[in-house]
Amino acid sequence: MLYTLTNFQTMPNKRSRRYRKQKFYCPYCQARLWRAGSPKHYIYYQEISDIQKNLNISRKKASFLKNQNNTYLDRSSWIEDFCCEQHGKMWLKITCKVDRPMQVSLASEDDWKNTTGTINPNVPNPSVSEFSYSMSRRLKIQS
Ligand SMILES: [Zn+2]
Repeated sequence: MLYTLTNFQTMPNKRSRRYRKQKFYCPYCQARLWRAGSPKHYIYYQEISDIQKNLNISRKKASFLKNQNNTYLDRSSWIEDFCCEQHGKMWLKITCKVDRPMQVSLASEDDWKNTTGTINPNVPNPSVSEFSYSMSRRLKIQS
């Protein structure tokens, strides 16, 4: 499925300036990290329960957002490429919600599944080969 950015709920971006000078630190050695300059891969939610949980809103409001856009793009949560002098490149998930401390963690497989990025660049794409495998099996059974 393809989503266009214009269809997503957009949120006021007033606070972005405040976070620009945020420093990031390596989860392994606590050294200062440098932005590797990748685009931000924003997180989106497709389940009402995920929208509700992550935005901390009522179920009614979450289901309203879901009905509006089918999927909700969370502009306060994204995966970005960083670089540590010792540990090299790493993908971090960053969440900065209004009035809450910024959360930084290593991006998990689950995080990647819900981003605007295509797929986790750290692992080869397994779904393609699995798909063609099951397709070829099916074709063999039919013939
Ligand atoms: Zn490090």
